[in-house]
Amino acid sequence: MPNSSGGGSVALFKSGSEILALGHDCVLRRDFNGAYEKYVSATKKFAKDGNRPEQSVAEAYAAVMAISQGQSNPDILRSAVRSLQALGNLPLKMGLREVSSTELSQEMDLLASEIEIRRLNPANASEYADKARRLQDLASKFRTYTSGRILVIPELFERQTVRGELKALPLSALAEEALGESLISSDPKTAAEHYQTARLWWSQAGQYDETERAAGIVGRYAHATKCWFCGRQVTGEGIHFRSMPSDLTELLKKIADEDALPSYNGSKDTIFACMGCYSAIEKLADSLAVMRMKELEAKINVQLTQLANQISNIDSRMRSRGI
Ligand SMILES: [Zn+2]
Repeated sequence: MPNSSGGGSVALFKSGSEILALGHDCVLRRDFNGAYEKYVSATKKFAKDGNRPEQSVAEAYAAVMAISQGQSNPDILRSAVRSLQALGNLPLKMGLREVSSTELSQEMDLLASEIEIRRLNPANASEYADKARRLQDLASKFRTYTSGRILVIPELFERQTVRGELKALPLSALAEEALGESLISSDPKTAAEHYQTARLWWSQAGQYDETERAAGIVGRYAHATKCWFCGRQVTGEGIHFRSMPSDLTELLKKIADEDALPSYNGSKDTIFACMGCYSAIEKLADSLAVMRMKELEAKINVQLTQLANQISNIDSRMRSRGI
């Protein structure tokens, strides 16, 4: 948080409006800390003069400048939203731009929501569905409120030209991915379709790494196979079936090839197992490993006891001989 002590002496000699204008000059010079100090100073001056309306305006400017220190902190954004809402609908100077307090408070409210919703970490299908709904809602609000306009905050603090649609595209992609995750446990094919839609949104947003990542998930979630062990048809690689290393003979591969759904990955000598078979094998292997370890432990303990006895015997013999 910027330090507000620097503006005190200025307040003695200038009017609140003059100090406010100094704050605007600082913003034009991109000195946001300086602007914050001037706005705080103007707030104090207006309060001293009993000018409550101008005090609220200066307070709102200070609250907006405070976010230069904490743009990723939704609490600071929300605090600015409250200060702006208290003004009603007034024109404000933001660098070279003039923006209404209503418009700016809506934009900052959306930016705060974006941070909060992106940080959600769903633990189950219904929480994923809830996150998807909130992302869709936020994407549509960004389109409605700011579609044609350039957002004030990214332009002011980061010199970035961002329109509502550019914000909405990745949010729509994330909404589709959250929907996909909400369905993967019950309906992997539809989950893959949602990731396919997410892929298109990422592509439109020009985020090619995300496009490729989503395409990879489409491939895995839509991958259908037949379990090598039980023969069940299953879709959703990594979730409903997994690959296991195995040595297949040419004859076994040939027999497996006769099936419409191959149950092995020809290039890697791995077979596919549904999660039922996979987890049963894994649990059995674990319990066999534990059993084997206990057997070895018992054998080693016997040997250790024998060794300890031998050492003790040698020791007592040496003592009896006075060595
Ligand atoms: Zn199986």
